[in-house]
This record gives sequence, structure tokens and C-alpha cells, in this order.
Amino acid sequence: MEHADCLFCKIVKGAIPCAKVYETEAVLAFLDINPVTPGHTLVIPKAHHPTLFDLPEEVGCRLFAALPPLGRAILEATGATGLNVQMNNRESAGQVIFHAHLHLIPRRAGDGLHL
Ligand code: 5GP
Ligand code: ZN
Repeated sequence: MEHADCLFCKIVKGAIPCAKVYETEAVLAFLDINPVTPGHTLVIPKAHHPTLFDLPEEVGCRLFAALPPLGRAILEATGATGLNVQMNNRESAGQVIFHAHLHLIPRRAGDGLHL
């Protein structure tokens, strides 16, 4: 399932380090290297699928199932009061890494971010 040239597949197999936030059998979450706000986390299926449109149902379900516990943990760890969940799919939508991923972006009142 791994894609040889994919950065996130390399993170999944440990060839490139990451700051791991959460992990299940099917899903990995780690801090974004260039955070929009403190605690900005990426959550990915461990299997390689380029975009949302390529996700088999079970992979999508497992990815989404990780969000409630992960979201709660991020709020608790960062002290943020809100959280944006964003997904860029395909180049025209801003996707740069073609291994499907969700951005979890902690928010605070008055942080001035416009997403
Ligand atoms: P995209 O634009 O594809 O939705 O987002 C890709 C995200 O991956 C960006 O927010 C970028 O900062 C993050 N990123 C790129 N390279 C690395 C890396 O080597 N490690 C980590 N942790 N994040 C990365
Ligand atoms: Zn990949």
C-alpha cells in the first residue's frame, strides 16, 4: 500500500521522523511542520490514497472515527477552545502532499485567523 516517493508514507514507516500525536492501527496523527496555529495536527490513513476521492469506505470511516478522541486530546493539550478540520483535495484546492490528510487547526477567540 506504500507509495515509494510519498513523504507521508515515509513518515508512516518511520523513515522520516515526526512529532506523533495519536496512532491507531489504521491512522496516524502528527504535528504539522509549519503550523498555522500552535498544535496544528495532520491526521492521515496509514495506507496510501492520494485524495479524499480515492478513500475506500473503511479507510474513510477509520479516519473519521479518530477525530472525536483526537480533537478532544488536542483541545486539552493546547488549551484551545475550538478546532477547524480542513482537507485540501487536488492541486487547485491547495493540496501539496498527495497522501490524503486532514488538518486539525486549534483555534482561540480573537486569534485573527481566517480560514
Ligand atoms: P496540504 O497543502 O497538502 O494540504 O498540506 C501539507 C502539509 O504538510 C502542510 O501544512 C505542510 O506544512 C506539512 N508538511 C510538509 N512536509 C512535512 C514534513 O516533513 N513533516 C510534517 N510534520 N509536516 C509536513
Ligand atoms: Zn503515501
